[in-house]
Amino acid sequence: MALLQITEEGQSTAPHQHRFAAGIDLGTTNSLIASVRNSIAETLPDEQGHHLLPSIVHYSSQENRVGHQAKAFANQDPLNTIASVKRLMGRGLADIKTTGTRLPYEFVEQTQGMPLIRTVVGDKSPVQVSADILIDLKQRAETTLGGELTGVVITVPAYFDDAQRQATKDAATLAGLNVLRLLNEPTAAAIAYGLDKNAEGVYVIYDFGGGTFDVSILHLQRGVFEVMATAGDSALGGDDLDRKIAQWIMQQANISDNAEHHHIRELLDIARSAKEVLSIQETTSLNMTLEEGNHWQGEFSRDQLYELIDPVIQKTLLPCRRALRDAGITSAEINEVVMVGGSTRMPRVREKVGEFFSCEPHVDIDPDKVVAIGAALQADVLVGNKSGDDMLLLDVIPLSLGMEMMGGLVEKIIARNTTIPIAKAQEFTTFKDGQAAIAVHVVQGERELVTDCRSLTRFELRGIPPMVAGAARIRVTFQVDADGLLNVSAQEQISGIHSEITVKPSYGLTDGEIERMLKDSMAHIQEDVSLRNLREQQVEADRVINALRSALQADRRLLKQNEFLEINQALDNLLKVRNGQEAKMIKQAIEQLDEVTQTFAARRMDESIRKAMAGHKVDEFMTETE
Ligand code: ADP
Ligand code: MG
Repeated sequence: MALLQITEEGQSTAPHQHRFAAGIDLGTTNSLIASVRNSIAETLPDEQGHHLLPSIVHYSSQENRVGHQAKAFANQDPLNTIASVKRLMGRGLADIKTTGTRLPYEFVEQTQGMPLIRTVVGDKSPVQVSADILIDLKQRAETTLGGELTGVVITVPAYFDDAQRQATKDAATLAGLNVLRLLNEPTAAAIAYGLDKNAEGVYVIYDFGGGTFDVSILHLQRGVFEVMATAGDSALGGDDLDRKIAQWIMQQANISDNAEHHHIRELLDIARSAKEVLSIQETTSLNMTLEEGNHWQGEFSRDQLYELIDPVIQKTLLPCRRALRDAGITSAEINEVVMVGGSTRMPRVREKVGEFFSCEPHVDIDPDKVVAIGAALQADVLVGNKSGDDMLLLDVIPLSLGMEMMGGLVEKIIARNTTIPIAKAQEFTTFKDGQAAIAVHVVQGERELVTDCRSLTRFELRGIPPMVAGAARIRVTFQVDADGLLNVSAQEQISGIHSEITVKPSYGLTDGEIERMLKDSMAHIQEDVSLRNLREQQVEADRVINALRSALQADRRLLKQNEFLEINQALDNLLKVRNGQEAKMIKQAIEQLDEVTQTFAARRMDESIRKAMAGHKVDEFMTETE
């Protein structure tokens, strides 16, 4: 056996002490930071009392500005005022162009990766711009909380791919933040409403923001959220409503289509405020200053607004239908609907979405703060401010992680459905005298045999100093971080030699494949248990056969001919059944061989004692051991 298990140790628990943690919603239009204070998760305001930070950075040779201050420069200095940078994260210029995003900057194309944005203070990558937004939020939090942040949870859309997630993490690192985990925005919203405390259910998260619409269907099972489907429209948001309202105003006020740029911006601002006011009032009055000092005044009512926005709301229901279809469910199977994003403040949106899913949507938590609040709750748990009982079960390992043992068997180190992050260590030892290396083969899956699992990686620990079998202590640690990256390390404890490797277990596995692997293991449980049993007996048979052969080679002369024949017959029998499929027969053959070799073993023992004592007097041994 290459490795033998000798001890098992669980995950070490962190000491209890309050640490500052925060949740960050890094949005396309607005960003927020929230934290749990006195057991309440709340978004943190800036010095002027704003909770929302517009996701805009203005670069200038004097001073870089972020948020509201930067927004003020959108008109006068559009090329250096960077907004909606989230759309560029982790994307190449080609991707950005195909999504139909219209961004008014000057891009510097890169042969690889994200394009740079040309500004007066140099070319900026989307990661740098995002980092500037994060730095602002970090400072806000550290001032308000009165201490350094230990860690943050940053939210990302559920559909973000690896490159987009990595770019988000890079921005955080650049901002000097320790990212505990990236969390899907819909999952964060569900956590904010405490839906993770429910036993089970299917939830729709309808997120209608400034520039994008996303719908996600989540399935909660034993506290774990699984994304069943996502759909959306990356070019549909509150901004579209503003444009429609602005066009309506232009018609009413007889403003020509080729009005000056600053008029368009002013119009859009008026349109947006009117839209927002109508979320709480029935009517509002519009006031515009036109060319040559003329004024225009008009009334704008909810009915007029509805005429403009109903087609936009209808457009969001198409992805909803698609998501239901992809998830393979009907709206009758939906337990609850959660509203996210500033645009869901509109009563009309709530009404139409409620009708569509035939249920009253959750709106109690401010829809533009709900994602940050959920992230803050999660950050608080991850940083260790909650006891284990309160621990939310969130991202889990979909398939068990283990390593290959003798006989092609799998030793599971981290079981499937274990919450991440997690670290587990197990100690092993060498089997042979003087064994200088061990092979660590890391596999993933539920089956008992290596050949039925997915091979993730292999590496070797070499240079183990010569020791007798069983003396070396090799500690193998499996560590999965919050993003699902697996690090496996092996260290021989006596000599300290060490070797490690990092892999991404989920890489290249689709949900369908994971499901198939799980189903496979269910279907083969019975078969696998007996196969494991068989392999274990075979390994034991090999050990016994090897031991007997070397004993015979050394001490055959201690046996009479008939005794030798009897042992040989039992050995032959074991060799014969060893390659069969009957674990029970191998076990019996081992027992039989054990029985017929007992006299032989006793004589060898006697002889070795005699040899050791030869030439010595008995009392010599006694004094030595006294
Ligand atoms: P994102 O997730 O894209 O960063 P938000 O969730 O912050 O965006 O949503 C911003 C959008 O919400 C803007 O279009 C804004 O006009 C809209 N919005 C905010 N408050 C209201 C309101 N009271 N009524 C209607 N729309 C609103
Ligand atoms: Mg958002």
